[in-house]
Amino acid sequence: MSSVVETRKTAPKQSPAPTLKDAKEEVPADINIPDNYVSWTLKNQKPLPPITWDNLLQNLQWLTLAILTITPSIAIYGLFTVKMRWETFVWSVVYYFITGLGITAGYHRLWAHRSYNASKPLQYFLAIAGTGAVEGSIKWWCRGHRAHHRYTDTDLDPYNAHRGFWFSHIGWMLLKPRYKPGVADVSDLSKSSVIRWQHRWYVWLIVGMGFVFPTVVAGLLWGDWKGGFFFAGAARLCFVHHSTFCVNSLAHWLGETPFDDKHTPRDHFITALVTVGEGYHNFHHQFPMDYRNAIRWYQYDPTKWFIAVCAQFGLASHLKIFPENEVKKGQLTMQLKKLRETQEDLQWAPNVDDLPVISWESFQEQSIKRPLIVVAGFIHDVSDFLDEHPGGRHLLVKYVGRDATTAFFGGVYDHSNAAHNLLSMKRVGALHGGMQHGLQDKSIPPAQRLRIARYNELGGGSPYNSSTAVSDGEGMLG
Ligand SMILES: [Zn+2]
Ligand SMILES: [Zn+2]
Repeated sequence: MSSVVETRKTAPKQSPAPTLKDAKEEVPADINIPDNYVSWTLKNQKPLPPITWDNLLQNLQWLTLAILTITPSIAIYGLFTVKMRWETFVWSVVYYFITGLGITAGYHRLWAHRSYNASKPLQYFLAIAGTGAVEGSIKWWCRGHRAHHRYTDTDLDPYNAHRGFWFSHIGWMLLKPRYKPGVADVSDLSKSSVIRWQHRWYVWLIVGMGFVFPTVVAGLLWGDWKGGFFFAGAARLCFVHHSTFCVNSLAHWLGETPFDDKHTPRDHFITALVTVGEGYHNFHHQFPMDYRNAIRWYQYDPTKWFIAVCAQFGLASHLKIFPENEVKKGQLTMQLKKLRETQEDLQWAPNVDDLPVISWESFQEQSIKRPLIVVAGFIHDVSDFLDEHPGGRHLLVKYVGRDATTAFFGGVYDHSNAAHNLLSMKRVGALHGGMQHGLQDKSIPPAQRLRIARYNELGGGSPYNSSTAVSDGEGMLG
C-alpha cells in the first residue's frame, strides 16, 4: 500500500515540445482553461431558461426517463405475477452486489478516482459488472463524477446538492441540465483498452449484463427464467440504480461531518448500507483518492473489503491511503469547532484588561464596605458566597482585606479546580503590582488554561510577521 503523497507525481512546469506520438493522444480537457475559470464561468454562464409546464416536454431526457420508469414497472409487474423462489431471491441479492461493486469499486474508486491499480482480469470484471448496473459508459460516468468533486455544491457540479434532494438524486438526469457541467479531464481513461472495449460494445453489454445474464443464470441453474428476468434483472436493476443515486442525494443530506463542514457531503451508516459502502461521503470528499470510504474496521464498507481481498489475491495493487496524520487534522479541526461552540456558550471570568487596577490601599478601604479578598493578584468580591462557602463563612471573613493566595492554594485547603474556576467569576479588580512572577499558573483558572483560539486571536497575527519565523537574512526568496 502506498500513500497518496508518495504516488503523486509533480507535473513538469513546462510541457515538452509536442511530438507526433503526443498528437495522437487526447489533449486534457482542462489544459487551456483560464486561471479564473470557476469564478468566471459561474458569473458569466447563462443558464437555460427555467423549466415550466410549457417547455417540460422539450426538456425531458427521454431515454433516461424510459429506463428509469420502465424498469420499475417491469419489476412491479413481476412482483404481482411471478412467484418468488428463494434461489432467485438469493441470486438477485448476489447480483445486486456484483453490479453494485462494478460501480463502486470499478466506475467510482478505480476509474473516477484512480485510488488503486487493477489487473486486466479485474478491470474486465468491473467493467462488465458495472455495465450490468446500466448507468452509462465508464467515461461518461467518470466525467460527471470528476466534475462533481471538482465543483461540489456549485452550478458546475452536475448533481449540485444545493438544488435539493430530488434534483441530486434523479432530477439532474431526467431533465436537460440548466448549466453545463464544469470542465473535468478524462483523457487518462481514453488510454485504457478496457474502457475503449466497454465503449465499443456498450449497448450489447447493457442488454447482456442488465437482463440476459441474470435471466440465463436463474433459468439454466434452477429453471426460473421468469424470476431471473423480473427479479434478478429488473427489480435488482432498480435497487442498483437508486443505490448509486443515493450517493449523490442521501450522502449529501443525512449524517455528520466529522472531517470537514465546508461542503454538503456527510457520513452515515444508513447511506453506507444502501450504497455498498459509499456512505462515508464526508471522508470521501476530503480524501477522494483514498481507496477506502470507511476508515474504521467496524464501519460498513464492502467495496473497501472487496478491493482489499483483490489485493490479497494479487488482482489489485497500489491501494492508496491518505496519510493518517492529515486525516486526523480534519477530525481535530471539527472537534475543536464543536468545542469552541461549547466554550462560547459558557460564561467566563472578566478579561484582565477590562478590570480596574486597584492599589493595595484602595483595596483595604473598599474591603470595609464589602467583603473583598485577594487571590493570585486578583481582587474578588465574595459577598454572595459567604454563606455558600463549604469550609464555612468564618474562613472567608478571616481573609477579607487580606491576600489569601497561600491559604487558597493549599495553605489552609488545596482548593479544587472547580473552586478555582468559580472564584475567578468573582473578580472585580486587579491588584496594582499584584501579579508577581510565578503566579501565572495560579492566576489563570484551570478551565481557561487550554482554550480554543482562532489564529487571529493568538496575538501573533500573520505568520509572516511572527517573531518565531525563521529568516535566512536575505529574504525568503533571496
Ligand atoms: Zn458527493
Ligand atoms: Zn467520488
